[in-house]
Amino acid sequence: MPELPEVETMVRGLRPALGGMTLREVQVLDEFLLVDHTAREFERTVQGAMVDRIDRRGKWVVIALGDRRGLIVIQPRMTGGFWLIPPDRPDHIRLILRTDGPRESIWFCDNRRLGKIAWYPGAEEAELAFSRSHGPDALEISRAELGARLARTARGIKPTLMDQKVLAGIGNIYADEILFRARIHPSRTASTLSNGELDRLHASIPAVLSEAIAAEGSSFDAGYRTVLGLEGGFLTGNAMYGRGGQPCPNCGHAIEKTKIAGLIGRPTHFCARCQPLDPPRRTKTR
Ligand SMILES: [Zn+2]
Repeated sequence: MPELPEVETMVRGLRPALGGMTLREVQVLDEFLLVDHTAREFERTVQGAMVDRIDRRGKWVVIALGDRRGLIVIQPRMTGGFWLIPPDRPDHIRLILRTDGPRESIWFCDNRRLGKIAWYPGAEEAELAFSRSHGPDALEISRAELGARLARTARGIKPTLMDQKVLAGIGNIYADEILFRARIHPSRTASTLSNGELDRLHASIPAVLSEAIAAEGSSFDAGYRTVLGLEGGFLTGNAMYGRGGQPCPNCGHAIEKTKIAGLIGRPTHFCARCQPLDPPRRTKTR
């Protein structure tokens, strides 16, 4: 599933191909993904517009059009992704953007059709739609804001980090890495983190996400690929996700793969020694 680093990688891949180009032709192949528009309406609205800029907002790809032509917002969700080369599964193509640039066609594919394609007349409308369902971006949230948001919930820290309404961009893979780096057990109650733990958590979020962006994200099955069809490299050198039973890179203890409350459907990886559920109380020694 594309998380923040994968969507950021998509945006960086799209920029040189799409930025400054004119959308010569726009073709919706699957109306099911469109929000509030028919295929014809959407195509008519954006066709002929110049792409001003391409940005990421949480896990949204935001394509801002010039001359007040609005914004195209694409949510890849579970299995969506962009291709600058002909996709290996043409039957999964949902949208084609044809430009006047050297990359004539840009394809958006989505195997499970869970992605969304929307258009907003302006940045304010898009921002409003985003803020209705999302908290601050995980790369931009301040230490104070993160602390305040975690203090409000009695849920476990891992499902809370993955709740897009709390902060936007973190999914299952990076939550495991971030909590390992911060030495916090994934089942700890979010509101009980100490100041020191919050400091470590707040520092670990951008550290892990930046490393993942540099590696162009994580590919673990036939799912996520870069815009050139390549696998992301993060999971070749990561610490926790997908490494149940292997030695912890910090202490050598076997990494546990388990399921935790609030996240029954997906695996959680952690080191019970580096991330104890109940940190031993420091008792005064004589
Ligand atoms: Zn360990």
